[in-house]
Amino acid sequence: MGVPTLGCSCPVCTSADPRDRRSRPSVLVRWKETASPERVVSERVILVPAIEERVVVIDTGPDFREQALRSGIHRVDAVFYTHSHADHILGLDDLRPLSFKAFREGGPIPLYATAETAATLERIFDYTLSPHATYPTRAKLRLEPLKKSTQVHGVNFLRIPLMHGEMEIVGYRFGRAAYLTDVSEIPEESFALLEGLEHLVLSALRHKPHPSHATVEQGTGMAARIGAGQTWLTHIAHELGHEETNRTLPAGVALAYDGLTVPVDL
Ligand SMILES: [Zn+2]
Ligand SMILES: [Zn+2]
Repeated sequence: MGVPTLGCSCPVCTSADPRDRRSRPSVLVRWKETASPERVVSERVILVPAIEERVVVIDTGPDFREQALRSGIHRVDAVFYTHSHADHILGLDDLRPLSFKAFREGGPIPLYATAETAATLERIFDYTLSPHATYPTRAKLRLEPLKKSTQVHGVNFLRIPLMHGEMEIVGYRFGRAAYLTDVSEIPEESFALLEGLEHLVLSALRHKPHPSHATVEQGTGMAARIGAGQTWLTHIAHELGHEETNRTLPAGVALAYDGLTVPVDL
């Protein structure tokens, strides 16, 4: 719901600590790609390799526009969706200006999603995503089926099956990092896909049990089994103050916060 939560004046919602101000969950993966290897064209001309910034976003929630402004992104090369709940998709239309830029460079921005998620996106954003859409300046986006693994400009995004209550959703691994949000349970076979992580981003809502979100205790249990160098808890509700909760977490586990940036081996 975001923190401050509308209508609430609890200590976390009124906290002065900027890390207690939480927009809806999303992650940005940014890297530099050397577009072509350096080569000698003739004895006199050397083509210097073009270095392109590449940007992948996982989920475009209602705060996507503000998050993109804060991160200073000027392009998006692909979007991966975890599932179709409002807090993960409602910023999709704010891809519009970036999609015009992508289109001029080569084509629409690919949106990778499961068939279930794609069907909901197509229904909610039918004026943009329906094959019959006619609105002239609609975003240039293209739904793509999500496979087990997807290459984006040399970086592999591996699909990690997760449970969100009764619903099967998707997390992603990229290099030695993984982003698993809205998790209530990790299926046994997914643990094998999560070995050797440096950074794990994992959701943990609060202490009180919830039917479709892990608690802090459940999340730290999953984190211990996965054994990443560092686990960052995300999708945190207003029951958890940043500073006081962090003091109670085991070594190698901490609450994430808006704008947190970590270097990752891709
Ligand atoms: Zn509150
Ligand atoms: Zn969510």
